[in-house]
Amino acid sequence: ATMPPLLSAVANAGRHGVLVKSAVVMEHLGQVDRVALDKTGTLTEGTPRVTEVRPLAADGREGRPDEDALLALAAAAEYPSEHPLGRAVVAAARLRGLHPPQAEDFASTPGLGVTATVQGAKVAVGTPERLLDGLTGERAEAARGAASALEAEGRTAVLVLRDGDPVGVLGVADRLRPDAAATVAALTALTGAGPVLVTGDNPRAAARLAAEAGITDVRAGLLPQDKVDAVTRLQAAGRKVLVVGDGVNDTPALAAAHIGIAMGRAGSDLALETADAVVVRDELAAVPAVVALSRRARRLVV
Ligand code: ADP
Ligand code: MG
Repeated sequence: ATMPPLLSAVANAGRHGVLVKSAVVMEHLGQVDRVALDKTGTLTEGTPRVTEVRPLAADGREGRPDEDALLALAAAAEYPSEHPLGRAVVAAARLRGLHPPQAEDFASTPGLGVTATVQGAKVAVGTPERLLDGLTGERAEAARGAASALEAEGRTAVLVLRDGDPVGVLGVADRLRPDAAATVAALTALTGAGPVLVTGDNPRAAARLAAEAGITDVRAGLLPQDKVDAVTRLQAAGRKVLVVGDGVNDTPALAAAHIGIAMGRAGSDLALETADAVVVRDELAAVPAVVALSRRARRLVV
């Protein structure tokens, strides 16, 4: 006996490196007419690197020792973080041979950053836009200036606060996946509309990467719930929405979509559970490939 077309499409997807969880998911994939892509870890490789370390010394001192102190402090707070930015900070500290002190009371807020107690001080590491909100004074102004200078160069700026005081800004850079532009082109051809980029990152870094990938519809500065709202609005307009994310901060959006696909390498356990399909071979181009597989299988079924 031959396998039903949708089941053999599931098996075929497996050969493309995509674990599709059921024949029903396989069937719905072909109906997708709008795709929302996460940025960090999905459109990009998800292994960002710290490219700048900018301490904001109150006494005007500058140079390596302050840089190391800033990086060690940030790494201490980020140590337990699963976020690619957190891992970049920890990796940068390790590269410089630093030994970050032990942190306590670690907490992470999706789309915002982390907090921890480091040697008695409350440390926060995360997005400058939100962490500087309402802060005034010379250091806050210096931090705003440093952050926007980095963002103007397409970096993601990461702010470090100690006891509510800005002590420095890190610049982080991530690379587009090599198959990002081809994937965007293939998805556009399949669905008749360009994919939407939904990201928690700053608008400037987001726009720069989007342009490189051929995406014109960019929604930046989104919290996890904003990503859900963006998906829900597209669905309210009649679209069948596919969300592709790494699950770090987009698990709710993966759940809200008609179909959620998680990038498996970076994906959290919860994301892998929530998603309808998982890209296990870490190739973004597998996404349009499985949509096309579904279309073909559906033609055989009907
Ligand atoms: P994306 O949508 O691009 O995957 P996220 O929603 O994961 O981005 O994160 C959005 C923003 O929140 C980041 O650009 C960063 O500014 C901030 N952020 C989140 N987690 C962290 C962290 N662990 N360390 C530093 N910044 C963080
Ligand atoms: Mg992400």
